[in-house]
Amino acid sequence: MSAGTTPLQPPAIALLAPLAGWSAPLDEAPDAVFAGRMLGDGVAIDPTSGTLHAPCDGELVVLAASRHAVTLRTTGGCQILMHVGIDTVNLGGEGFTAVATPGARVRSGELLLRFDLDLLARRVPSLLTPVIVTAESGFRIVRRIVGSEVRVGDPLMDLAPDGSSAAAVAASPAAAAPGQGVLRRASVGFEHGIHARPAALLTAALRNLAADVRLALRGREANARSTVALMALGAQHGDEVEIRATGPDAALAVSALAAVLGTEAAASAKGAVTTGKHAQPVAAQARPAAAMAAATTPAGAADFGSVAAPAPGDGLPGVIASRGLAIGRAFHLRRPEIAVAESGAGVAHETAAFEGARAVVRARLERGAAAAGEGAGARAAGEIAAAHLELLEDPELLAAARVSIAAGRSAGFAWREAVRAAAAQLRALTDPRLRERVDDLLDLETQVLLSLAGAATAAAPELPENSIVIARELLPSQLVALDAARVAGLATAAGGATSHVSIIAAAMEIPALVALGPAVLALRDGTPLVLDAERGVLEVEPAAPRVNAARAALAARREQAAAQRAAAQRECRTADGTRIEVFANVGSAAEATAAVRNGAEGCGLLRTEFLFLERDSAPDEAEQRAAYQKIADALGGRPLTIRTLDAGGDKPIAYLPQPREENPALGLRGVRTSLANPALLRTQLRAILGVRPLEQCRILLPMITDAAEVAAVRALLAELRAELSVPHAIAVGVMIETPASAVLADRLVADADFLSIGTNDLTQYTLAMDRGHPLLASRLDALHPAVLRLIETAARAAASSGRMVAVCGGLASEPLAAPLLVGLGVHELSAVAAVIPELKAYLSRMTLAGCRALAQQALAADDAAAVRALARRALGEGGGVPR
Ligand code: PEP
Ligand code: MG
Repeated sequence: MSAGTTPLQPPAIALLAPLAGWSAPLDEAPDAVFAGRMLGDGVAIDPTSGTLHAPCDGELVVLAASRHAVTLRTTGGCQILMHVGIDTVNLGGEGFTAVATPGARVRSGELLLRFDLDLLARRVPSLLTPVIVTAESGFRIVRRIVGSEVRVGDPLMDLAPDGSSAAAVAASPAAAAPGQGVLRRASVGFEHGIHARPAALLTAALRNLAADVRLALRGREANARSTVALMALGAQHGDEVEIRATGPDAALAVSALAAVLGTEAAASAKGAVTTGKHAQPVAAQARPAAAMAAATTPAGAADFGSVAAPAPGDGLPGVIASRGLAIGRAFHLRRPEIAVAESGAGVAHETAAFEGARAVVRARLERGAAAAGEGAGARAAGEIAAAHLELLEDPELLAAARVSIAAGRSAGFAWREAVRAAAAQLRALTDPRLRERVDDLLDLETQVLLSLAGAATAAAPELPENSIVIARELLPSQLVALDAARVAGLATAAGGATSHVSIIAAAMEIPALVALGPAVLALRDGTPLVLDAERGVLEVEPAAPRVNAARAALAARREQAAAQRAAAQRECRTADGTRIEVFANVGSAAEATAAVRNGAEGCGLLRTEFLFLERDSAPDEAEQRAAYQKIADALGGRPLTIRTLDAGGDKPIAYLPQPREENPALGLRGVRTSLANPALLRTQLRAILGVRPLEQCRILLPMITDAAEVAAVRALLAELRAELSVPHAIAVGVMIETPASAVLADRLVADADFLSIGTNDLTQYTLAMDRGHPLLASRLDALHPAVLRLIETAARAAASSGRMVAVCGGLASEPLAAPLLVGLGVHELSAVAAVIPELKAYLSRMTLAGCRALAQQALAADDAAAVRALARRALGEGGGVPR
C-alpha cells in the first residue's frame, strides 16, 4: 500500500500523571471491574494529595454527578477516565469540589477537581485511583510507569492507536445489519445511577450480541457499547431510560440490558472485595450481625442482593458450561425445612444434644475452612465455612438458644428460634450485603438441625420433571445428589465454564449456563424456560412459536445424535484418512460404559479424584485397584489413562494435611500434593500396577512443571514394580497444564511416553484468569492464540521425538476446535462422552491439509474471538458447527 492510501491514524498520545502519588498496576485496584479491565486498560495511582489534573489536552466530556470521576476526550477521540478512589460514588459528592465544568476544553496539567484526602481515607475502602484508557477509545498503552512515585505532570503512559478508530469501535458491529428494531423502557436500578461500574456491566452484557443498541434519556442518546457515552447520559437511580436496538440479536440485547439495569446489587458486583467497611453500622446491632459483618463476601461470587425478576420474553446471557438445549421450568435449590418438636426431653439431655451437634458441625466447618481451594467456587466454599464457624460460636446466638433450652424447649427448637430472631434483625437492615448474610445464618441453622437429627447432609430435594435447576453457585456434591433424570438443565448466577461442577454437568450430559448474574435468582419457581446452551442464553417465558421451535430443534438434535452415535462406532479418520483417536474423559465405571456406547476408543483421562472426595480418609490400595479394574473392564480392553490424584486447588481434600494457602491455584496441587504425600502416591501407584491387563493402562501426571517431578514419580514406580514383581513397563504421560510444561515440552518428552494437554488449567495459567471467576468467565477462552501457541509448542516437541500428544482439557470437547487441534499436531482428543459422535462426524469431513492451514491462521490471530470466527468460517456456517 502506498503512503498516499494509508488510512489516517490519530497521533500517539503521552499521558501525564493527573495526581501525585504511587503509581501501581491496575490489577491492584480492589475492584474486579477495574482490575478486570472491564472499562479499559490503565494504571492506578495511590494519591498523596487531593487534586486531580488533566493528563493531556482535551475536552471534559463527563463529570459524574457525585464529582468522583472525570472523563476527558482528546481531539483524536481517545477517552481517559479518572476515577478517584474506590466506591467513592457512595459519598454523593461529599469531599469533592469540581473546578472544571463539563464541556470545557482543558490544557494538560490544568486542575480539574479537588478532593478531601482525609475524608476519603476514612470513608471509602481504597484511595487507589484508576486512570483508564477506555476500551472503546481505539488506543492501546505502549508504555506505562508503575511501581514508582509520580508527581503531577510526570510521564505516566504512552498510547498508540490500535488500528480501530474510536468511532468505529464505539459503533456496534451490527449497526448496518438487518433486523427489526426493538424498543423497551426500563428504570435504572443502580443505586447511584449509571456511573463507571454499572456502565462496564452494561457494555459487558452486550459483548457477544450482534446488535446496535442505544440508551435514550431526556432527549439524549448513548451508544450502549460505550462506557463513556453511558456515563455521560447522567442517568440516575429511578430514571426511566429507553433501550433501542436493531440487528439480529436486538431482542436479546434489549432484555439483557433491561435485566442489568434493573439490578441494583449488580452495581456492587466486584468480586473479592472485603466488606470490612460495613463493620461500623453493624457493630451497633445485635452480636450475630457483628459476627457476620466480619465475614468477607465470598471471593469471586458477585455480590447479589435483591434484583428485578426478568420479564416474559427476556433472554439472560450466560456462559456455556455444558452444551445443549433444554426446555423446562425453573426450580430453585433451597434449604430443606426440618421439623423440630417444641418441647425438650429435659434440660440436661437437650443441652448435651445441642453441644454434640455443634461439635459435629464445628469439626466439619473447620475442615472446610482449612481446605479452601482454587477457583472462585471452592474458595467461596472455604470462606463461607469460615464465616459459618464464626456464627456457630456467636455468644448472643448461643445465649439465646441456651436460655430457650433452659425454659424447656428442645435443642432444635431453641436453635431455630435464636437463628430466626437474628435473621429477622438482619433482614431489617438496608445494606444488601448484610441482608445477604441471612443466607449464612439459615444455612447454619440447617446444618445444626441436621446434625441433631443424626444426618450428615440434607436429603436431595424432590425435583419436578424437566427442572431447570437455578442456584447462585453449585457444589459438585450438590449436583451429583440431584435426580439427574429430572434435571433438564442448570442455570447458575455465578460459576465458571471449566469449574469442576461444569465438567460434571457435561459428563452427565446436562446443558448448563453459568455466570448468568443475579437476575436468574429472581425467577419464580415454575417459570417456563428455554436454556439455550449453544447460544449462551436463558430465555424466560418464551412465546409459543419459540418453544415449538426449540422442541423441534431438540427432536432434530436427538435424531442427528442417534445417527452420529451409530456412525461413531467406527474408528475416527479425517476425510483423507489421517487417524485421530477420539477418547473420553471419565470419572466412573458407569461413565466408561456410556462412553464406549458413544464411540469412545479409550479413556484419555480418568480423574481419580472421584475416589478421594466426600469422605473422611483416603481409599486404600484394594479399594482403588477394584475401582480402576472396574473401569478397565467397562472399557473392554480399550486404553485407560489413569491420572494420579489431582488434589488441592479447587479439589481440596479435607483429610490431607494441606497448608492454608493464600492462593491455592498456585499452591500445593496435582503432582505436588502427591509428592508431598509419598505414602498416598505409593498406594495409588501400587493400585494402578495391580490392574489387569496392565498393558491396557497408562499413567498420567497432573500439573507437571519440570522434569524432576517426572523423575521422582518414575523412581517410585520402578521401586514398586520391583516390589510387586511387575515385568511390564507402564507408559507414563505428562500433562501440559502450565505454561512452564508447554515451554519445556521438548525437555519433558525425554522423560514422558506421551503428552496430554489440559487446556482448562493451561488457559487459566496462561491468561492469568481464575477458571471459576464469574466476571472473567466469558474471556476465559482456550482458543486464545496465546494458548494455541503453547499447544503448538508442545505438539511440535512431541512430534520431534515421535511421541503421541493428546488434548484432554475442555477444548477437546468443542467440535469447533477439533480441526484446529488436529492442525496443530494433536493425535488424540479426549472429550466428554456426549460429544464424541459429533466430534467424529466433524473430523471425518476435514482434511489434514485444511486443518493445518486453519491452525496457521489461528496462531497469527489477535484474540480468541478472531480464532472462533476463523474456525467457523473454515467449517462453513451452514455446517452445523455450534457456537
Ligand atoms: C485441565 O486442566 O484441562 C484438565 C484436564 O484437568 P482438570 O480439569 O481436572 O483440572
Ligand atoms: Mg487441570
